[in-house]
Amino acid sequence: MDIPAITAPTMVWLRRDLRLTDQPALAAALAAGGPILPVFIWAPEEEAPWAPGAASRWWLHHALADYDAQLRACGSRLILRAGPSLETLLDLATQSGAKKVCWNTLPEPAAQKRDVAVAAGLRAQGLRVELFSGALLFNHETILNQSGKPFQVFTAFWRRCLAAPPPPPPKKLPLGGLARRAPRRWPKSAPLQSLGLLPRGHWDQGFYTAWEPTLTGAQKRMRKLQKHSIARYATTRDTPGKDGTSRFSPYLHFGQISPRQAWRAGAASKKFLAELGWREFAHYLLRHFPQMPARPLREEFLRFPWPRRAGFLRAWQRGRTGYPLVDAGMRELWQTGWMHNRVRMVCASFLVKHLRQPWTDGAAWFWDTLVDADLANNAMGWQWVAGCGADAAPYFRVFNPTLQGERFDPDGEYVRRYVPELAKLPAAFIHAPWRAPQEVLREAGVILGKNYSRPMVEHESARRNVLRDFQKMSKAL
Ligand code: FAD
Repeated sequence: MDIPAITAPTMVWLRRDLRLTDQPALAAALAAGGPILPVFIWAPEEEAPWAPGAASRWWLHHALADYDAQLRACGSRLILRAGPSLETLLDLATQSGAKKVCWNTLPEPAAQKRDVAVAAGLRAQGLRVELFSGALLFNHETILNQSGKPFQVFTAFWRRCLAAPPPPPPKKLPLGGLARRAPRRWPKSAPLQSLGLLPRGHWDQGFYTAWEPTLTGAQKRMRKLQKHSIARYATTRDTPGKDGTSRFSPYLHFGQISPRQAWRAGAASKKFLAELGWREFAHYLLRHFPQMPARPLREEFLRFPWPRRAGFLRAWQRGRTGYPLVDAGMRELWQTGWMHNRVRMVCASFLVKHLRQPWTDGAAWFWDTLVDADLANNAMGWQWVAGCGADAAPYFRVFNPTLQGERFDPDGEYVRRYVPELAKLPAAFIHAPWRAPQEVLREAGVILGKNYSRPMVEHESARRNVLRDFQKMSKAL
């Protein structure tokens, strides 16, 4: 039976835009009239090789459960399916009589390619398709330097963004309308558990204490930033022991906070807005250099010797390097699915420069264990640290993990939290337990080499070696 167009449902295909405010595709469906069918399709093979990692899946599981609950409170619901996107959308259209599909595009080039193919497939079957954008603050298409090439320096890119009209305020949606817009019959939804998103074992236990992966959690974080943290953001953002940053990253990644909501919440701090600018820049770079997650943007780095050593990678992953700040960071990541930005830089630098392991191996570990794992931000972050990216830290900048600890965690608050075996050490030795006299170690219950590792490598010689090889690489050009 042919359902007349006005009563035919509009499908809203949700992906990483799991919010009910400032949601362009949902807004369009609400404006269109007729029933609304919100749909999420789990199709990780379409995202290969960058299908969500284990920590991201954990987040997604809870974000989907929450989104369904939020929709139900408005008289609607979320239909879940697993399978190829195009076929699943066509199947749902047949079952529901939907004539139109709306969705918000994702910024990654591979996702955009997939969207083009899905849109063409739907149109070929007579469905109308409407695409919207809402994942970024600025229109990147027109941002090029004077020679018509992409900017590779953040400050120039950001200056250009800031010269454009500021992002408009986030839009509220008339959600009261959703109850009246339920389809006559809901198609079957797959049970959330059947998607198998939660990890086996108990790895995720700490995630529950660290996060509220819901729209309410997102609201709380926005309120906290606006009311308390933003005034001190510029001074506390580098102190890993304090809750001084927004912790918006997973919410931004899954679209539970829109970039415009983030912009509004942090508008009082230019420094905070510039961090959102780095997010824009990462997506801008990925758009122009889609190889960024796997290949150095500075090609000479392909020749750099990275002697892979599984033991080194493993010790770093487990937080057993003997450098307290690095170990605390890697354990924070394992326990909570997140790591403070300053510590991400130090840990990444340690892997690449002290342990000489390929940055791609570190990026892969972050990809699997971060709840905010994001292709553009992660790839840019790693290439920045390794020195092979656009506007990267110069290769000769080798973070000293001890000095970084003494500067940014002076009382050892952060290290004590994540490396409890060092908790009783006085602040003077917390970042360098190997310098502590025997009786101090004894009193603190630290036995180096037994209950806490000795440093895996010595900082000065590791630094000299890596600089020598970087110089060789540069001379060979
Ligand atoms: P805030 O300081 O409150 O900043 C607000 C927002 O700005 C963040 O949520 C984020 O969206 C954006 N932002 C801040 N710093 C950066 C940055 N350097 N690059 C890009 N965007 C930024 N961020 C991710 O979201 N996903 C990743 O997979 C990721 N991997 C990283 C890997 C490495 C090696 C490094 C050095 C950084 C990585 N970052 C990544 C960037 C940064 O560490 C996180 O965005 C930040 O720590 C998130 O915490 P927050 O939300 O409290 O940040």
